[in-house]
Formats: sequence, structure tokens, C-alpha cells
Amino acid sequence: MIVDCHTHVGEEQHLSKDFVKDARTVSGNPNQTLAVDLKEHLKAMEPVDRAIVLGFRAHHVGYVVPNEYVANYVRQHEKLVGFASIDPHDEDAVEQLDYCVKDLGLKGLKLGPIYQNMHPSDPRFIRLFQRAEQLDIPILIHQGTTFCRDVSLEFANPVLLQPIARAFPDLRMIIAHLGHPWIGETISLIRKHPNLYSDLSALYYRPWQYYNALVLAKEYGVLHKLFLGSDYPVTTPQQSIDGLRNLNAPAAGTSLPTLSSDEIEAIINRDTFGILGLS
Ligand SMILES: [Zn+2]
Repeated sequence: MIVDCHTHVGEEQHLSKDFVKDARTVSGNPNQTLAVDLKEHLKAMEPVDRAIVLGFRAHHVGYVVPNEYVANYVRQHEKLVGFASIDPHDEDAVEQLDYCVKDLGLKGLKLGPIYQNMHPSDPRFIRLFQRAEQLDIPILIHQGTTFCRDVSLEFANPVLLQPIARAFPDLRMIIAHLGHPWIGETISLIRKHPNLYSDLSALYYRPWQYYNALVLAKEYGVLHKLFLGSDYPVTTPQQSIDGLRNLNAPAAGTSLPTLSSDEIEAIINRDTFGILGLS
């Protein structure tokens, strides 16, 4: 079974002008759009058996997708599972999470301290980590850098998740994008915490970083904790699978270390839903 654990939906009205402008500036693509047509999302998911569709609520950067929108979409397609997103600045954040899980049927929580402009150890975040552990739902957390201009990198390092992993040992957390560019930090964290994982979304198009990241993950013995993801619409699952299969390209013609095709296929076919308790 192939799972894409990291996909986004959201229409133009859910995205602020600044968010789109910063994405276009940093990517160098003046036409980059992050708005998603749901028909195209579904079509892009054809190569995978299951996919996680993430909510996104970060008022600070102006990217706010209603949780109902995500729930409505995933309800119509058996292969999709939806994750709520909650902005920790909202006073009723815990009640919102309860509503998303119990009433909307969402199965996990997406957080992004850098986008939400809050330190992950802030008590307003801690109450969400605690509630997610009580509800027994996994969290996908963007702990890594981003293109947005008006954000604080000091909220973004994956090492900041260490006190949370220690305080909530039963909480299952996926660190998005291997915590780029702090990949070594992410690998140290997921090695020592049994319930911490990471996804490989939106990395393959930096082939040298990607190759080094996965060789490092192999040397530290954490390949079994890595999940396939696309970060759709940033990339598609097919591009991500192809990118992973092409991982060893920078080592071609050298004696540099590589991943075996068995190791690569094991990541692609990982039982992500089983590990996260979603099946
Ligand atoms: Zn993402």
C-alpha cells in the first residue's frame, strides 16, 4: 500500500496576497499558485492507495482553510483521511479540536509553529499537544524553515520538539520535510523517540540535500521511520516516488554510499496508516 501522508487543499480565498507573493518571490515562479482544484487533487492521488489531506490555519501568514472544507472533501472519497488544523492563538483552540475530531470526523492535527508565529513550548500550544495525546490522534507538524518573510526561524528548529516528545511520550508526531534544513536534528530526534517520525515531502527537488539526508538517515538507522509525502500542490505523489527512486543519482560513477532499491521501495510501500493508527 502506498500512502501520501502530506497533501494540501485550499482555494484562493483561503490564501493571503502576502503568502502567495512570498511563495512566488522565493520560488522565482511568478505564476506559482498554491490554490488547489479538488478534482486535480484527486487525480494527482491516483498513484497512491491512501492520502492524508491537511487543514491549515495560520492567521499570522494569512493561510486559513476552514476545517469543514477539509472534512467535506475527504468525506466523499474513501482513500482520503483529513487532518484538522488549529491556530493556537484562538482562545477556544481545544474546543475546536474536539469538534473537528468528534463532529467532523477528522483523524489528526496539523500544526506549524513558524506559520502560526508561536514557540512550540508556549502553553497555548502545549494544551493542543496534550489534547491530541488524550484523543489518541497523530500530529503532523511543520518544524522547519519556510519561504514566508514575516516569520521567526527561532520557532522553527525541530529540536524545540524535544520537550514535547518527552512530556507526551504517547503522542505520535510526524515532522514534515525532515525538518529542513535541520535534517540532522530531525534524525537525532526521531531516533530516540519511538513515536516521532518524519516525512520526505517537498525535498527531492534539492537532489544533493535529499541524497545526503537519506544517507544520513540510513547511517543513523532511522529509514524505517520515514514516510512518503508530496506536499501537494508543491509536488505530486508520482513526482515524489520518482524523485525517491532517483535518489542515488548524485553518487553515480563514484564510490559514495547509496540506498538499496529495497530500502527505497520499503519507504514507498510503508504502512503509514497502520503505524499512525489510522487504518
Ligand atoms: Zn505542507
